[in-house]
Amino acid sequence: MAETRYISEHYAELAQQLVDTEPSLAHIRDSDATICCLGSDNAKRSKGRTVFGECERVADKNKWAIPADFLIVVYEPNCEGMDDEHLRRLLFHELLHVGVGEDKDGNEVYSIVPHDMEDFRKCVDRWGVDWIAS
Ligand SMILES: [Zn+2]
Repeated sequence: MAETRYISEHYAELAQQLVDTEPSLAHIRDSDATICCLGSDNAKRSKGRTVFGECERVADKNKWAIPADFLIVVYEPNCEGMDDEHLRRLLFHELLHVGVGEDKDGNEVYSIVPHDMEDFRKCVDRWGVDWIAS
């Protein structure tokens, strides 16, 4: 079955609050990076594990259709029953994947930041290893 995605104002609002208030997301706040938040009806799994969300770069060739630098996708069948606090944790994790750097001419360059362990230490330290399940 094909995946259907839609643009979610709700996730965008939660993500914006995080970007506005979280010290570890200040590099996003201070950048021109744009992030589009999507919901998906895909119950995505990868390597035997449930995938709750994902952060992707928008390829330059696709920017005519998606006017953003990053996409955050929430795989909704896997997030059933999550309240806003849980969604906020998930979005915080996905936002930590947003990398903002600079080239030698001072232009912003964007990348996906990989996990610093199995997960992000910041999420585990804050909410424990079961941060997404608990
Ligand atoms: Zn991740």
